[in-house]
Amino acid sequence: MMDRRIFLAGLAALTACTDAQRQPAEKVHQKRMAITMDDFNLDFDIGLSQQARHENILDAFDSVGHKAAGFVSGGFIDTKWGHSVISDWGQSGHLIANHTWTHPHAKESDTRAYLSEIEKTRRFLLTFPGTSEFFRFPFLDDGGDRAQQAALFQGLRTLGLVNAPVTMDSVDWYTTSRLEAALKANPNADLAPYRDYYVEMFVTLSNHWDGVAQALGFTSLPHLTLMHHNILNGHFLKDVLLALKADGWRFVDAGEALRFDPFHAIPSEPTHGRNWLTLKAREMEKSVPAYPENYLGFGSKAMDALGL
Ligand SMILES: [Zn+2]
Repeated sequence: MMDRRIFLAGLAALTACTDAQRQPAEKVHQKRMAITMDDFNLDFDIGLSQQARHENILDAFDSVGHKAAGFVSGGFIDTKWGHSVISDWGQSGHLIANHTWTHPHAKESDTRAYLSEIEKTRRFLLTFPGTSEFFRFPFLDDGGDRAQQAALFQGLRTLGLVNAPVTMDSVDWYTTSRLEAALKANPNADLAPYRDYYVEMFVTLSNHWDGVAQALGFTSLPHLTLMHHNILNGHFLKDVLLALKADGWRFVDAGEALRFDPFHAIPSEPTHGRNWLTLKAREMEKSVPAYPENYLGFGSKAMDALGL
């Protein structure tokens, strides 16, 4: 009598082979991401003008044919210049989305006041091309407890808005704070080591989070990558995007990634700054690859070691 295990293994191999022949494209894991860029705090301009930062970022997206999404805090761009920045985004085919007016913590806010900030930003953004239905909680903070979280999601629904989570955080906000400190100390600082560090970190963290997605069974997840409109990306976004492309990543339009259905359910607990994959791993009680040690503490130790 045939060993049942051998028989089943053989059957599985045969099935896999037949499926692979039938649908090769669907069986291949593809690393895919959309860039979402938050805040639009345009102030810092030592060594790179606001105009040059703005143009470099749009040019970087064009260099890989990517349509991104900008999550705007209305109060940060309510100037003539700010208006022209987000108009350019919309006219270039990127999405514009809501990120409150003053970028508050939800857990520290009165729920009604918080929702009225969102409503103010919603009305403001309606006058610009490319404005979408998406909203992102500043600090990935969707409320201090389940009751506030539920009230905020209900409020979003009432306003016709859809929550946009993050599957990977590039921690660029920390990297740029170090770069800005260096430029304040010396406007002619050598930026190449910051570029090299940032590019390597970004690719490493992207592959880490894709490994987490695969461990949870989300093959070819359209990742939502969090970046910020800052001087770091004004200088090096194009380097990052080209390095990702060379590493096998494909860019999926932000509009398509944001409409991925599983992203829209209310998280199983308040997010408290955690990304969608971290919460999913907890919800599914699955172990996932450990965060790359070198970049714990937002990369502070790695940057210290490099003298950045
Ligand atoms: Zn933000």
